Amino acid sequence: MSAVATVDLDVFRSNLQLLGDIAAPTPVMAMLKADAYGHGMLQLARPAIEAGASWLGVLEISEGLRLRDTGIDAPLFAWLHGSGADFAAAAGRHIDVGISTEDELRAALTAQSAVPLQVHLKIDTGLHRNGATEDEWPGLLDAAIAGERAGALRIRGIWSHLADASVGDDEEALRRFREAIAVAAARRVHPELIHLAASSAGIRMPEARFDMVRFGIAAYGVSPFDDRSAADIGVVPTMTLATTVGEVSGHTARISAGWADGLPARAAHAASVWVRGHRHPLAEIGVDSSVIVEAAGLQTGDPVIVFGSGLRGEPTPTEWAEWADTIGDEILTGIPVRVPRRYVEAGDGRTEQPR
Ligand SMILES: *Cc1c(COP(=O)(O)O)cnc(C)c1O
Repeated sequence: MSAVATVDLDVFRSNLQLLGDIAAPTPVMAMLKADAYGHGMLQLARPAIEAGASWLGVLEISEGLRLRDTGIDAPLFAWLHGSGADFAAAAGRHIDVGISTEDELRAALTAQSAVPLQVHLKIDTGLHRNGATEDEWPGLLDAAIAGERAGALRIRGIWSHLADASVGDDEEALRRFREAIAVAAARRVHPELIHLAASSAGIRMPEARFDMVRFGIAAYGVSPFDDRSAADIGVVPTMTLATTVGEVSGHTARISAGWADGLPARAAHAASVWVRGHRHPLAEIGVDSSVIVEAAGLQTGDPVIVFGSGLRGEPTPTEWAEWADTIGDEILTGIPVRVPRRYVEAGDGRTEQPR
């Protein structure tokens, strides 16, 4: 058997419920970007809502449209707009959009729609990843106010994103965010939704929660912190990447998963996998297979867990991230489409491809 990624929908739901309890009474947006961090956006949308998420967040309008096409009627938010972004469809199908610049606002307004586009104006609080700087903010606000007067849009939100680099950086960003909100208030702009926090600030900075917390990585069971584990927070990894032992020869064995299945090649020598209740170090990560050392006693066909919940002692996505000197997000989103996703909940199991 080559690699298979099993996504436990019950674990995903309970992670999101726990995060919702932490943020309560603040509502939660479940972030389903990057195909739900590699888990499958279409499959996780409904469980997210069942677990109490009031909103779903995706990168692009086109992803929001796919969710609408599958019958998701929850509020949706999309904030990354390429040149082909269909703002008219966003307005018509009630997908709120993040807007960062006056140019983007103009592009959004050239789209004609019978219903006003719901926009969330983005402030750059120091991350320099879109958003209006302090100098650009009054111009963006005034352009949006004009659009609202003309009936083309509604200013529904003001938002930004934190770098999560350190508490000090986040506090400085929070200060800038508040200043920009004051600039808007001076123009009598008081939107319904002010939102800033993602997983990290949503958990550790109550003052950053405002009207909504956008939870991403923590909902998938990976800690956003360096100094607090997923277990410390109480969340559990939702994805298990498994394969089997192939050929065994002496003290080494091959497992049927390699870098084409998302195992980062640079993690070889640091990484290990879980077979027969023990960790076995990996000496080499090849294209579609990898070499285990200390393989005495293993047999062809033995199940191998590359990473999983960690509850039985198997490696977690976070450990793989440490071994590969990256972040857990990259491990999860790096599991390619060729690896089939299997979704399980309450004892039942079914196999599906995410797209
Ligand atoms: C990815 C992302 C989030 C979620 O961040 P996590 O740290 O994964 O919780 C929230 N908001 C925006 C704009 C994002 O891009």
